[in-house]
This record gives sequence, C-alpha cells and structure tokens, in this order.
Amino acid sequence: MACVSFPYDAPVSQTLFDRASLVTPGGVNSPVRAFRAVGGTPRFMVSGSGPYLTDADGREYVDLVCSWGPMILGHSHPEVIAAVQEAVARGTSFGTPGEGEVALAEEIVARVEPVEQVRLVSSGTEATMSAIRLARGFTGRAKVVKFAGCYHGHVDALLAAAGSGVATFGLPDTPGVTGAQAGDTIVLPYNDLGAVREAFAAHPGEIACVITEASPGNMGVVPPLDGFNAGLKELCAAGGALYISDEVMTGFRTSKAGWFGVDGVRPDLMTFGKVMGGGFPAAAFGGRADVMAHLAPVGPVYQAGTLSGNPVATAAGLAQLRLLDDAAYATVDAVSAEIRGLVSEALAKEGVAHTVQAASNMFSVFFTDRPVRNYEDAKKQEAFRFTAFFHSLLSQGVYLPPSAFESWFVSTAHDTQAVERIAAALPAAARAASEATA
Ligand code: PLP
Repeated sequence: MACVSFPYDAPVSQTLFDRASLVTPGGVNSPVRAFRAVGGTPRFMVSGSGPYLTDADGREYVDLVCSWGPMILGHSHPEVIAAVQEAVARGTSFGTPGEGEVALAEEIVARVEPVEQVRLVSSGTEATMSAIRLARGFTGRAKVVKFAGCYHGHVDALLAAAGSGVATFGLPDTPGVTGAQAGDTIVLPYNDLGAVREAFAAHPGEIACVITEASPGNMGVVPPLDGFNAGLKELCAAGGALYISDEVMTGFRTSKAGWFGVDGVRPDLMTFGKVMGGGFPAAAFGGRADVMAHLAPVGPVYQAGTLSGNPVATAAGLAQLRLLDDAAYATVDAVSAEIRGLVSEALAKEGVAHTVQAASNMFSVFFTDRPVRNYEDAKKQEAFRFTAFFHSLLSQGVYLPPSAFESWFVSTAHDTQAVERIAAALPAAARAASEATA
C-alpha cells in the first residue's frame, strides 16, 4: 500500500464500520466496498440526490460511482421514486406473473434487437450463470471461453484465474471453487482473436460458448479493438458455439441498446443488470428465441427465482428505461467527455503519466502512458498514484470507485455545479498523484 495520509476522518462511518465488522465479514456485503485497495474508512452513505451522496457524517460527495452503474439518472429521480411508491403501495411480491415484468421484458426486446426473448432474474451473477447453463444445455458441450480481466459476477465457473497462453485451463481463483467447476473454463487474454482461434482448434466440438464483457469495465475501461467482437461472433458461429455478450454493465448505459447499439455485433445470448433495475435487484438474460426455448418450462434447462420479476424492481427499471431517450444519452455522454477532459488536463499539468479510456460514457483513468488493451496491460499501471488521487478527491467531496481497476460512472444529473466541484478538486488530487510514492 502506498504511503497515503487520510486527510480527515469519518467518525460516524468508522463507528458503523466497526459495528458492521463484528457481524459481517470485512464489514461489507460486497468486497470492493471495504476500501481495501485504497485504505481508509469506507463511507457509509445515508442518502443520494441527483449527482450527490451524503454520508453518515453529513458530508456531501459528487458521486462518480453511481452505484457501480445503475444510477444513470442520478439518485432519487422523482419519476423513478414515484413509480416505486406506486408499485410498493400495491404489494411487494406475489410469486405470480404480473404485468410489470411483461412491460419490462417488452421494453428490453424493443430496444435490443438480438433479444427475441428474455428471462428476468435478480442479479447480474444469476444472469450470466443462467446464460452459461443454457449455452451448455443447448449445445450439449461443456467448455466455456472467458477473458482474463472480464468479470461476470461470482459464478463458480467464471471465477477462474487468468492463465497465460492458449487453451490454459482455468485454475480456481478462490478457495471454494473446485477444479472440476473451473476445469471447463478456458481463460484467454482479452483482445486476442488469435488465442480464441487456437482454442477452437485445440478443442473441436467441445466449446459451448464464448462469454465476454461487451466492452469491459471490470479491469478499468478497456474497449474491444476494432473487429474483436465481430471476430468472436464469427469464430463462435464457425465452431458451433454460442456468443454471449455480457451487457450487465454496458446494457442501457452505453446507448439505448447498450454496446450492441454501438458495435452492432449480434450475440446469440446477452446478459443485463444494473441500469435495467433502476437501483433495485433486477437483471436478465435473453437472445435467440430458439435458444431461449430450451429453458424450463418450455425446454429442459432448469432456471427459476422466487423474486424474479419482482413488481417493485420491475417498476423502477421500467420507469428508468422509459426516461432514457436519445437526449438522456447525449447528456450523459457530454458530461462524461467533459470530466474526462478535466481529469486529463489536471494530471497533465502535474506531469502525471496517464491514459483515459472510454466506452461511450463509461471511462477510467489508468496511471500509465501506454494504451491498455488487456488485463496484463492494466496491471502495469502505477496504481499507487490512484490511491493518492482517490483520497485527495474523497477529502474534497468527490467519490470515485475505491480501486484503480474500475469504471467511473456519471449520470444525467451531473450538472454544471457538480462538474465545477470536480474541477475545483482536481488540481490538488493531481498533485497528490504526482507526489505519491510506491
Ligand atoms: N457482469 C458484469 C459485466 C458486471 O460488471 C457485473 C457486476 O459488476 C456482473 C456481471 C455481476 O452482476 P451482479 O453484481 O449484479 O451480480
């Protein structure tokens, strides 16, 4: 850990963190929230409004995490809140079909052309897990190709470590995942079509699917090189495998139709989450009708969920999607470009080597002057500079993801005032990054 001083303490958050640590492992319900990569006390948030979060100590932050993507309209958007209140007043869960889930499915199918049918679930993890099972059931094959640095949730088979070289069988990345669970996973370097070609050649008739983040955001933002996704699609088609595009992060964020709306490469199956839930646990997988027809109760591949299509979650998601028109995406794209420019300018002024990479309005800052094309490149950055940068911004009321390997997210609510607050905080943060030592 770099030598960073934490410019102020957060006594109420610290007390809550101490309490939480007694009853919850690490004090958090998702590891990145614990600030382990940057040190210091995680901020316990009590409310959100537009582009701002307020913590338990009463401090306000410009939020550049947006709940890791979902809050594309900002926090507490009045129309989303009204839709939730209206839904919740009618009851919270029925365990039966309901009109809200039909309307959300129709909205997804209308927006994302390759999705002919869709099944709603409760998390992105569930979506990718179910899509992989369906691909295996449909093809009758076992092996799954994934890319190092792409995160698809904590699905056992997809928590395989990056292996070097072609056709490296995944080793479990975490205790609790057995060799058998990860043994059918082939981990390849991202943006390397040659490696995918060789994997198909080495395993003829064995690969059920290739799963990729449509445009990765989980090693920082590393967009696919021109032709990479199209090449994956072609190799899958030639090899009799399904091409699964994981749009949990990019879906309904990078355009009205997610990353598909940007590159037009037609997947066999797609996964969604985050934005489509409006801040509630809702996610989905969908795609070709002939593939989806293999799902229970129509087909033999089992998949289910007590809270799938929950009426409150679907109401929130639907309200959010209906507000996301072309003008909304233009607003988010513009504010993202503005903040990227300000960050780069501040870092350049202090002579800090950096590369800002973007995929539509998703972006991240790598502390290296070389383009980042895969996970190995991403790991070569000077992450210790990020730590100093992060804490300086935090102390000035700007909330970044607490890791150098994450996308930053903005919303339609990030207005001039919010951008000005970021601009005012950047010079000191850039100085802190430049002075940081490993
Ligand atoms: N897929 C991608 C691309 C993600 O970014 C994530 C979460 O960040 C997931 C899947 C898992 O989603 P969840 O955290 O809702 O399980």
